[in-house]
Amino acid sequence: MEIYYQKDVEPGAIDGKKVAILGYGSQGHAHALNLRDSGIDVRVGLREGSNSKAKAQEEGLAVTDMATAAKEADIVMMLCPDTEQKKIYEEQIAENMKHGDTLLFAHGFNIHFNCITPDPSLDVGMIAPKGPGHLVRRTFVEGGGVPALVAVGQDATGSAKQKVLAYGAGIGAGIGGMLESTFKEECETDLFGEQVVLCGGLVALVQNSFETLVAAGYQPEVAYFECLHELKLIADLMYEQGIGGMLYSISDTAEYGALTRGDRIVDDKTRKSMEKILAEIQSGDFAKEWIAESDGGRKNFEKMEAAQAKHQIEEVGEKLRKMMPWISEGKKSVQESSGG
Ligand code: NAD
Ligand code: MG
Repeated sequence: MEIYYQKDVEPGAIDGKKVAILGYGSQGHAHALNLRDSGIDVRVGLREGSNSKAKAQEEGLAVTDMATAAKEADIVMMLCPDTEQKKIYEEQIAENMKHGDTLLFAHGFNIHFNCITPDPSLDVGMIAPKGPGHLVRRTFVEGGGVPALVAVGQDATGSAKQKVLAYGAGIGAGIGGMLESTFKEECETDLFGEQVVLCGGLVALVQNSFETLVAAGYQPEVAYFECLHELKLIADLMYEQGIGGMLYSISDTAEYGALTRGDRIVDDKTRKSMEKILAEIQSGDFAKEWIAESDGGRKNFEKMEAAQAKHQIEEVGEKLRKMMPWISEGKKSVQESSGG
């Protein structure tokens, strides 16, 4: 795998270029602030009436409407929601980009699934940080940088890659490392990871195990600690030292239980489901389903979100986390720094 660092960035590759960040949410605020602190001329483009406007202005950032931001800039980074990008690009951005400008994404979705077809005169690139926006900002402020996947989707000028790398370095990814990928690989693996492991699979595992203990008569508070709270401790060990390091750190009893029982939880049937979910991502069926849901007003999405919020584990968790104020201390600064 090709990995680029600060030293691989061509000096001056984006000197004098103006950057527009469209959207000021999780990624938008982090990119805008990191680029500004890297000495790059940044403006933020927001829709009419956006409640992020005040937050961006408080940081001293120039804020305009999206069309103006795109018109002023040489490099446009799309950091509004994936489902809105097509409409925003077609109605406000396309006509305001000039030959040789650079259109950037933080996720391969809209290019890979052909929702957006940029003009052939544009450079098209991707810098997809492998972490949420507040971490992209916090790591940068601490002097580091979250790694990112980078790709060139279209090279109209012959210098697309150098511009992508220079932008990536501007948000700190030149320190963490910029891993060369493609829109297709980033998009499909990102969706797979969040559906199967990080967000979908993990939540299902936590809730089902919690329900199993509570149904068997154990106290919900104890079930919460076992099935949710301790996850972070184990995840941190895996993050720092891999699976082997984690297994080494836990008791022999826990390790034996893990080695003999893990495969019974994630068995052949689950593995088949993973393959099916991957196939739905690859065929574009998932993208089609999600775009239709979003265009249709997100009714199912909101219903499921509301049902999820009512789960007993949420009530128990809220109560227990109040008794552990040190847990949410970090969260406060996250909420304050993220544009939302
Ligand atoms: P977000 O939902 O946090 O923020 C989106 C922002 O866009 C909002 O804050 C607002 O400023 C603006 N916005 C919202 N609705 C809009 C509309 N209808 N019209 C115009 N502007 C609107 O989004 P995010 O999570 O930062 O995602 C931005 C991009 O970054 C996406 O492509 C996403 O896939 C990618 N990405 C996100 C993460 C992450 O951890 N959040 C990580 C890597 C890549
Ligand atoms: Mg992701």
